[in-house]
Amino acid sequence: MQYISLLQIAPTLAEFFGITLITRASPVERILEFAYSRNPVPPVVVLVVVDSLDSQFYSTCVTELEALHKFVEQDGLLFECETVSSHTTPAIASILTGLLPESHRIITSEDVGKSKINSILEMLADKGTPTAAVMETMGTKPLLGRISYVFAVDDREDIIEYDELIKTHTISVLQKPEVRLVFAHLRAIDRFSHRGWDLRVAAKVTNENMRAIAEAVSERNGMLLICGDHEMHLKNRRQVKAPATVPLIVCCP
Ligand SMILES: [Zn+2]
Repeated sequence: MQYISLLQIAPTLAEFFGITLITRASPVERILEFAYSRNPVPPVVVLVVVDSLDSQFYSTCVTELEALHKFVEQDGLLFECETVSSHTTPAIASILTGLLPESHRIITSEDVGKSKINSILEMLADKGTPTAAVMETMGTKPLLGRISYVFAVDDREDIIEYDELIKTHTISVLQKPEVRLVFAHLRAIDRFSHRGWDLRVAAKVTNENMRAIAEAVSERNGMLLICGDHEMHLKNRRQVKAPATVPLIVCCP
């Protein structure tokens, strides 16, 4: 286990794909070594953000998140990432830009469309490297026409159905041989935590979705990155003084 920051994901991907990202955060050498040591070097990278998956929840749900734990055990890497925000929109913007919220200023979903700061998805697309995003409709708006494939899923009460659609689109975009980077966002665990529902159910659903996505990544000899975005919002959990961390799993399933 190694401590990094969520800000280091974007510069790591930038370095892997050979583009320059303007950020103070540095690439994670171990991930780059891992990627370059594969034969073939992964032709596609899939980054899945699992909303509210924090380190404490990950280590508690060994059974429910069995597939995720297996990705690590079977020649994968596990990092503990310092978070940058306790909210989804700024956290994901940081994951995709390598910048702190005070630098990217994407705090609400309204800011998403207005920001002039490009994510790694747009930067790669600008350099001729096809990318794809599978996420909630509002979040996809600035990406339309900017990147190769955009799959918008409308927010809805049935979050299991929502995640099912995210999974299906993620698998289908992996059939496009030219796509090099796919970003997807699963939300069941976050919704269940806010509603006070049984988190084991959400964990199991997420586990099965990730298992299916991993299979599609494996068929393309790709590399899979799975991370959380912020600490889980739970009323009864005692707040620890140390900064919140989320896991980052890196594997070639
Ligand atoms: Zn979130």
